[in-house]
Amino acid sequence: MDNPLKQKIAQSIAITGPMPISQYMHLCNAHPDLGYYSTGNPVGKDGDFITAPEISQMFGELIGLWCLQAWQAMGSPDPVQIVELGPGRGTMITDVIRSIKSSREFADATQICLVETSASLQVQQRSKLSETDMRVDWVENIEQLPPIPAIFIANEFLDALPFRQFVKTNDGWQELCVGLNGEPDSSQLAFVIGSSGLEENLLPPGHENEPVGAIFEHAPAREAITILIAEHIKTNGGAALLIDYGHQKSGFGDTFQAVQSHQPVPTLANPGNSDLTSHVDFQAIGDIAIRSGVNASRIVTQQDFLLAMGLLERAGRLGHGKSALVQQNIQQDVERLVGDEQMGQLFKVLCLTRHDCPVPWFDGNTISS
Ligand code: SAH
Repeated sequence: MDNPLKQKIAQSIAITGPMPISQYMHLCNAHPDLGYYSTGNPVGKDGDFITAPEISQMFGELIGLWCLQAWQAMGSPDPVQIVELGPGRGTMITDVIRSIKSSREFADATQICLVETSASLQVQQRSKLSETDMRVDWVENIEQLPPIPAIFIANEFLDALPFRQFVKTNDGWQELCVGLNGEPDSSQLAFVIGSSGLEENLLPPGHENEPVGAIFEHAPAREAITILIAEHIKTNGGAALLIDYGHQKSGFGDTFQAVQSHQPVPTLANPGNSDLTSHVDFQAIGDIAIRSGVNASRIVTQQDFLLAMGLLERAGRLGHGKSALVQQNIQQDVERLVGDEQMGQLFKVLCLTRHDCPVPWFDGNTISS
């Protein structure tokens, strides 16, 4: 077998039995030597997938504007930190920094903190930010952040964290695991039904009516990070803006996916060489945030959010006086960010704030205090 990570996973399964998808995903994405985010070139045109900040600078600029609104709503604390979770190539934070400089007072009060576990992506981020005059620190987890007010931003971060799948069987809901395909001496990976069940109270309403074979996804790792964000906001003040593909309401269905060179590939075929993700259950994230003692906004689409933040006006200004070709490209970028069939509907936005912080709150198509 030519894939060393696959070999390790197969050996581990042969000894200890099938592993939950969450464990498989953690090994594939985060193994320190062989994991995808340690060795791969995930994001960008030359990478495996394109994210919103890689499509257009306008995305990060509008996130920067949201940070300014959040800071004002928090009572303009000084110092304050903007914390990006999973910053990829550092593109979004670069655009955020440029945009927040429109407010000298905010820029002067702000320090940047990037939460990144991948050593190789940290190198890319450091190089991208080498010229900035703002203070930038890196940490590997939220618990290492300094105890000052924080504005958290995260784009396509939660989807990369491990999740579990449960399948409805005649004997109830059972965990779907990664095992071996049953041939003697085989090291081919296959989905198998494991022995763990699921507490009924974790299932969304209507589970009784789902047919045998239905899939439910549960992501304790995403909920754990949400609790840490909420705790930090509760203790130190702040807000969070979470953007990702996913659903507004908890439901059923298999959303496990692997992407390599911009194409979907089988999830078990090539561990460590493709981007493994699943859709984010924003209702579960919002509920856990509320239970942790912070406000959670209505979950809106990326289309509603970016249009409310002024995407079209920003595009107009960016294109003003430019060639027809440049203007056409900007138009295409807008379409990719907010088009119904593109990112506009699939991507959702959730905002968390401390109880004493009234904005930025989504209300219909406008963000108002
Ligand atoms: N936000 C970027 C990149 C998304 S890819 C963009 O929109 O372009 C996911 C990012 O999350 C990568 O930087 C990856 O290394 C990071 N990541 C994955 N798991 C993480 C974890 N547990 N803690 C911190 N960062 C993580």
